[in-house]
Amino acid sequence: MTLSELTLDREGLAAAIACEDAAFEAALREEAYSVKVATVGPEVYLRGLIEISNICVKDCLYCGIRRDIRCQRYELSEEEVLATARIAAHRRFGSVVIQGGERTDAAFIRKITRLLKEIKSIDTEDDPPLGITLSLGEQSREVYEEWFDAGAHRYLLRIESSNPDLYRKIHPADHSYDRRLQALYDLKEIGYQAGTGAMIGMPFQTAEDMADDLLFYKEFDAPMVGMGPYNPHPETPLTLSGAPYPSAERRFALGLKMIALLRLLMPDINIAAATALEVLDPRGREKGILAGANVIMPNITPEEQMVKYNLYDRKTLLRDCPSSVDPSKRDTHICRNCVFPFCSLGDGLSGRKIVIGYGRWGDSKHFRRK
Ligand code: SAM
Repeated sequence: MTLSELTLDREGLAAAIACEDAAFEAALREEAYSVKVATVGPEVYLRGLIEISNICVKDCLYCGIRRDIRCQRYELSEEEVLATARIAAHRRFGSVVIQGGERTDAAFIRKITRLLKEIKSIDTEDDPPLGITLSLGEQSREVYEEWFDAGAHRYLLRIESSNPDLYRKIHPADHSYDRRLQALYDLKEIGYQAGTGAMIGMPFQTAEDMADDLLFYKEFDAPMVGMGPYNPHPETPLTLSGAPYPSAERRFALGLKMIALLRLLMPDINIAAATALEVLDPRGREKGILAGANVIMPNITPEEQMVKYNLYDRKTLLRDCPSSVDPSKRDTHICRNCVFPFCSLGDGLSGRKIVIGYGRWGDSKHFRRK
């Protein structure tokens, strides 16, 4: 297959996804990167990722923090979250993402509301107050409204798979595809930039399913998408079932290819280079950027707890940023000065003359245009 043969309908997308020709894949990534620069610019925006808790009421069959898995649970205190958000402000990340297992108890909901207000009042000197993305699963419409009113303006809720049959295969019977979809539409109606995404290279997933995921983002008119390779966790029912899935090399190539195809399909949206890419390749997120993504979420969760947010194999080996910093230093080059040997983000990006949008929210152009 060649680039000139590519069409962005279901058939064409599925053919591109199924095609394993390295020259085609490289040309596609290059084309997508040019489209990204021409539409959303050379900038990459940062969102400091704070993994607030691994306590979860859901039991997703692929997830390493599912309700029924035995692992050490944690929840960051309000002061820990605030201290971490202050680090994001000092480093001029512009935004934070608060992500965690799903919880719907009143204490947790009120805690998030208080945190949103407090994070909004963190001193960011000349920058706008920190932008806040939430990724806390399915909540009632009222809770989404409460959090929006308290200061969250983006919400990431992956559909995980847009194929309801596949969705059912990777979730227990009490999880509902329709409920998840409804939550996405609630978020959108409330006024959030409602981001979604799916896992790539899962057991049972076909090239057509992945093409449908891309068309789902388009149909939902998602202003931002965070999708990434499926990575097995050794103790989940999905892994233990023995159902086959593509090799790590293939899942990585597919992850980049999905970014590139989505950039061509939806040129002005925000696309994240997922952490799951970095687990498969030490320069995974940098390669994601070069395939058309424009958002990176450096993990700033305090290290002691970060290692317990063990969604999949090898995730906790990643070390993005030291979680303590001298607050008197306003460090605009966190990535270049990073002390962690595993992290290649800063050097890779600056070496490629990729501009980091320090201190800016980096909202989706697609959302603002509407
Ligand atoms: N509870 C929130 C939710 O459901 O949206 C956010 C936390 S959840 C752990 C964040 C994301 O982790 C999920 O949307 C899922 O796609 C991803 N994830 C979980 N297990 C994974 C795996 N084995 N491989 C790749 N991604 C995984």
